[in-house]
Order: sequence, then structure tokens, then C-alpha cells
Amino acid sequence: MKTELPGLTLAELTDLMKRMGFPAFRAKQLIKYLHEGADFADMPLLPKEMRGRLAEECEANTVTIHKEFPSADGGAKYLYALRDGSIIEGVRMRYSYGDTLCLSTQVGCRMGCAFCASTLDGLARNLTAGEMAGQIACQKQPVGNVVLMGSGEPFDNYDEVVRFLRVIHEPLGLNISMRRVSLSTCGLVPQMLRFAEEGLNVTLAVSLHAPNDDLRKTIMPIAEVYGVADIIRASRVYFNKSGRRIIFEYALIKDVNDSDACAAELAILLHGNHPAKSPGSPTKPQFWRGGSTDLSGTPGMPCHVNLIPLNGIPERSLAGSSKNRVRAFESKLTELGISATVRRSLADDVAGACGQLRRANL
Ligand code: SAH
Repeated sequence: MKTELPGLTLAELTDLMKRMGFPAFRAKQLIKYLHEGADFADMPLLPKEMRGRLAEECEANTVTIHKEFPSADGGAKYLYALRDGSIIEGVRMRYSYGDTLCLSTQVGCRMGCAFCASTLDGLARNLTAGEMAGQIACQKQPVGNVVLMGSGEPFDNYDEVVRFLRVIHEPLGLNISMRRVSLSTCGLVPQMLRFAEEGLNVTLAVSLHAPNDDLRKTIMPIAEVYGVADIIRASRVYFNKSGRRIIFEYALIKDVNDSDACAAELAILLHGNHPAKSPGSPTKPQFWRGGSTDLSGTPGMPCHVNLIPLNGIPERSLAGSSKNRVRAFESKLTELGISATVRRSLADDVAGACGQLRRANL
């Protein structure tokens, strides 16, 4: 099997160059080319013989744009083709401060969330770090921010995702600051705790979608394994280690999780002032207010709730909440001192969310 070069760190590329009998400095030239998405033929600084040998034994660009669907808002959706013929999808979102690229971490997904199209056919395979980096490398325009919010559960492919993060951080390669990266998980608690120890300090987004276990179990099978209390505790650990405010994602599903009562329960959960656990606490909890990381006087955790009106998928009977209900839910949270905003839908004229484009094209 050929060695996939875009998933290697500079140190690993340097080792490889030495083993192949090339001077170590070639690794520095190579990593730049690899992260520009170049194939060996387009690496003019490398001697011809070297390019020939690399092409025989290694792979350069692992991902190609199969189809591009430009959006009227300046963003785009993509179908990418991998070497084995797999098709994955991604989104480029245009913001005033630059473009954010949403990447997939697996082909399909096995988490089984009731509202998500990525999981309908289960998991085909994990992506390699090189295939994740390749989704950035094949872009024609610069990428500002990276979010691991495409198809797949990043923490179900832990090692390759962590490798990917280290690789895109390489100063001579993509040189992406971890401050510009967000990783979204459905709440795999052991991996959340392990990730806190990696020192990568990316923004962690946690897909909560329900304020309690009973409700969460009806839409997310993973709730049978990890409870919200443990997810909140792990989020707290991650915040303490990284200093990064936690993002909680909450997809609003009509008549399922969008009531004012759910908002109130969510506020109490995120505030962390559980009366049962702290008998001495005041009856009216002091909720944490966004904007400061000063935790004095409150056991709550600096966090932000991203409200996402559910993108209905035809295969399932779940619908998104009405605009009014979304606004009401946001107001309730804000009133209770929880920082919350409704996520703007981007590139939405193209196709729905999470795996819908890929399915439509299979
Ligand atoms: N496996 C990761 C990444 C998933 S995609 C995770 O669970 O976080 C990013 C977000 O989109 C998740 O919060 C996911 O739950 C949400 N999502 C999936 N399908 C959706 C849909 N049809 N409408 C709105 N949000 C959706």
C-alpha cells in the first residue's frame, strides 16, 4: 500500500525522506506542496527522479472535488471523491470575517441520531487524517476557520482526528491556529476527557439537543450510554483545561424538544446549580452571563448555546420548529441568563444538512 503523505507531520515526513535516501530539507518543501493539494508532477522544486519515486511509493492529493454547488450567498457545498471511490460532503460558509470550511471525519456515521441523514446508511469507514486535511488542500480559495461538523462523529475516529489537528497546525504546511478550529461531538464522554489532555485547545461543540436523558434517548441512541450529567461534567473538565468556552448545540425539533419547559430545564442544566447537589444554594439560581470567564460566585460554566432549527429530512418524520418557536426558545434561555443565538443557515439554497447532499447523489 502507498504511504499517504498529507496525513504526516513534518517530523514524520522528515523521517520518511531520510529512509528514502533524500535530504531532510525536502520534507519542508514537500509539506507545503502537499497542503496546497499539489500532485507530485506539480512540485517543481523537487528533482524529477525524486518525484518519480514518490509517485511510485506514496500518495499526494487524497481528495478531489467531485461536484461543487455554489450558493447565492457566496458559500458552496461540495461532494468530494476519495481514492477508493467513496463520496463525502462538505460546506464552505461565507462570513464577513472569512470562510469557514465544514469537514467530514467519517464516510457515513454509526451514531444513529434520529434527525440526521449522515447516519441513515450507517458507517462505511473512517477517514484518514490525510483525507481530512485533503478537504482543505483541494480548496481553491483560502480557508479561515475549520469546523468538524460534517458527516461522522469525530471522537469515533479519535486517533486520526487528533493527528489531523496536529498536521494542519504545522507552521510550514497549512499553519491553522487551533483557535480557528471547532470540533463537534455527540458527547462521547471518555474521548472528551482524553481530548482535554491533548492540549489542542480547539473549541469543543457538544450536540446536546435535549436537557435530560429521557428525552435525549428518544432522538439520540448514544444517550443510552452517556448521560447529560456526565457530558456536562466532561465539558467542564474541557473548559478548565482549555479555557475555551463550550458550545452546546441544540437542534429545535417541532413538538419534541422546543417547549419553554425544555428551555428552562436546559438553563438549569447548563448553569450547573443543581439544588440536589448543593443544598446551601439560593432557590433562585444566579445564571452565568456570557462575555466573561470570571466564575466567582457561580458554579455555572462559560458556554454558549447554538440553536439550530432542524433541517427536516424526508426519510424521518421530524420537522423543524417554527420561526416563532425558535425565537421564543432563544428568549427564554437568554432571560434565564444563558448566552444563546440562532445559527444562521448558510448555503441553504443548495441542499439540506449533514449527509443529505451525499445521499441525494448516491
Ligand atoms: N457527530 C458530530 C458532528 C455532527 S454534525 C455531532 O454529533 O456533534 C453537526 C451538528 O449538526 C450536530 O449538532 C448534529 O446533531 C446536527 N444535525 C444533524 N442533522 C441535522 C439536521 N437535520 N438539522 C439540524 N441539525 C442537524
